[in-house]
Amino acid sequence: MGKAPLEKRYTPLIILLLVAALVTVLGLWATDRAGSSGSESVSGVVNKNSGEQFHWKLVTTWPKNLPGLGTAPENFARIVEEMSGGRLTVRVYGAGEIVPAFEVFDAVSQGVADAGHGAAYYWKGKIPWSVFFTAIPFGLNAQETNAWLHYGGGLELWQETYAPANIIPLAGGSTGVQMAGWFNREINSVDDLKGLKMRIPGLAGEVFAAAGGTAVRIPGSEIYTSLQTGVIDATEWVGPYNDLALGLYQVAKYYYYPGWHEPGAMLEFIVNQQSFDALPPDLQAIVTYAARAINQDMLDEFTARNNAALRILVDEHGVQLRRLPDDVLLELWRASEVVMQELVEKDPMAARVYASYKEFFDGVRAYHHISEQAYINARDIVLDSDAR
Ligand code: CA
Repeated sequence: MGKAPLEKRYTPLIILLLVAALVTVLGLWATDRAGSSGSESVSGVVNKNSGEQFHWKLVTTWPKNLPGLGTAPENFARIVEEMSGGRLTVRVYGAGEIVPAFEVFDAVSQGVADAGHGAAYYWKGKIPWSVFFTAIPFGLNAQETNAWLHYGGGLELWQETYAPANIIPLAGGSTGVQMAGWFNREINSVDDLKGLKMRIPGLAGEVFAAAGGTAVRIPGSEIYTSLQTGVIDATEWVGPYNDLALGLYQVAKYYYYPGWHEPGAMLEFIVNQQSFDALPPDLQAIVTYAARAINQDMLDEFTARNNAALRILVDEHGVQLRRLPDDVLLELWRASEVVMQELVEKDPMAARVYASYKEFFDGVRAYHHISEQAYINARDIVLDSDAR
């Protein structure tokens, strides 16, 4: 084997020297950057990622792992852990495991838990206008509520509302339009509401009371027993998918629609301000966008699964499906208007939130007349036509 030509023998040495020079230059540059401005990424976000780990507790108002409502925070925990490479773990606790359902807000406010999942209207006793961030009788549906929150100023008002409590709110999923609820007797007229004891939270509870009923506020985990033992005569919960999971068909016969009281119930993720501030910016972004992803995911899941669950309720469990009569709906709407005015007159912040909601509502309703609603009407006309 003869000697390689001179240039071939020296090529590896030249490459080695070039690599060494490059490493030295990069090292000097990195040292300089670290000394002058921290490790700033190209997007301008200061990355304080030191590999530090964060472990959050998330408390919920739901029974642990209840399909839909209870699995959404579990899904949130899973994707946060995946996206953060395990730097932020979230342990989810069902109602009663650390605090009872209706103490979730206080637990997050005081830092007993880092985060929570529930619904804003559960805090109506503390913040009367919180109902706007969950559901308003005869108000916005799921799609419209998402639009108001994220593109109509709603979320900013929600943030302002929770700031004094040391809490950051995020949209936390929607059930879509709910069912009017489970009743042990038929509702054929307004008179049938009189004296009826119904589990119905939020502003709708006040509306129901103004229409002659008695509104009871109990968490989901206690509904079944309350209906079984006659503590209540009726209950609303969510819709077929969730109500099947709760077994409500076993304790009430009539299943009424439409969900006039919760046309698109918005749930919430709530985060303790200090817990959020303690995170580096990339983990803060992961929390924010994981919530946004779960917000859409829950609506998708309910939309996909409600009809199959309804078929099981009706075909296998003999549930009687009923529509609320028009005069009952009209009476409930009249009561809603009265209750809404009382709420708005009580507090300037309630008036501000109402003004924003109402302006958005009027606009989106007008547009949906000729878009979503017009399309669904057209689809029914065509598909239900005898002439097909
Ligand atoms: Ca409900």
